[in-house]
Amino acid sequence: MVLMSIWVGYTEPEPDIWLKSIVNELKYLKTQDIKVKNTNYNLKVYGITGDCPALKKILNFIGHGGYDCCWFCYVHGEHKNGKRQYLYQRSIRLRNTQAYLHASNEAHRTQLRVNGHLGKSILQNLLDVQLPDSIVIDYLHVTLLGHVKTIGAAIYHELKPFQRSTFDSQLKRQRFPHFFNRKVRPFTEFSNIKSTELRNLLFYCLLPNLEAILPLEKLAHLALYVCSIRLLHEQVLLGDETGIIADQLFSKFYEDHEQHYNGLQNYVLHLHVHYSKMYKNHGALANIGCFGQEDLIGNVSSNHHGTRYHGELITFTT
Ligand SMILES: [Zn+2]
Repeated sequence: MVLMSIWVGYTEPEPDIWLKSIVNELKYLKTQDIKVKNTNYNLKVYGITGDCPALKKILNFIGHGGYDCCWFCYVHGEHKNGKRQYLYQRSIRLRNTQAYLHASNEAHRTQLRVNGHLGKSILQNLLDVQLPDSIVIDYLHVTLLGHVKTIGAAIYHELKPFQRSTFDSQLKRQRFPHFFNRKVRPFTEFSNIKSTELRNLLFYCLLPNLEAILPLEKLAHLALYVCSIRLLHEQVLLGDETGIIADQLFSKFYEDHEQHYNGLQNYVLHLHVHYSKMYKNHGALANIGCFGQEDLIGNVSSNHHGTRYHGELITFTT
């Protein structure tokens, strides 16, 4: 992994200022042949990924609490009980490449908000796959640290005290095969939970440990979500139908969401609607999460100790 630029500061960066020189350098590199052992290679820029605040910045979009904030479709949020909600819709109208480009150019020209666009993205002329197809949702932030954490906390808070202690002690005693890097934490330590622990919790622990605790309807509803993400996480388990079946399971989960959770239909839940297309275009969730990038950022920040020579420091640590 090559680290090309890093922003260290207390305020959010302005991508046009921060990334201008590195984007121009990449555009230049794309015009050159890169020769390795008598073979010429060309640089292609495939896509962009990150958490929602980072993506909205680099895509020059409104934030994830806005009314038209989805990068892929025209879902219009609703203000309900003091929260922005993106309620289930039977059909969604997708943004196509021409409409996406037109709206961003219009926003740039008029300096006004157009369907969620605030202007052009600095990546517009750099990416080889057109926007919005080149946007890769990061399931680490959207699913694990996003919706799994939210519904996990909601379920836990609805349990009676003795059910909570039973559930926590079951999680503490949970054993995994030796090649699992992390165990799961009890919910009493939920604020410090890591994304890999949430993944193990979602795939292996939630359903069996909640079987005797949750009402059957709620457990079945949760199973729709677990099975949907499990299918999308791996290579094709059910042939060409894998993404479609996962989407059908998730759609049912989304449709009945309000029956089991109160006011949790937020933007990260809505983004799951676009997972099946992403699975078809970019592959399984296991291959596209930001685990590696997060590790690298963690490594850089833990080695940061007040120097002004960040370039040398980063080169050394990576
Ligand atoms: Zn959408």
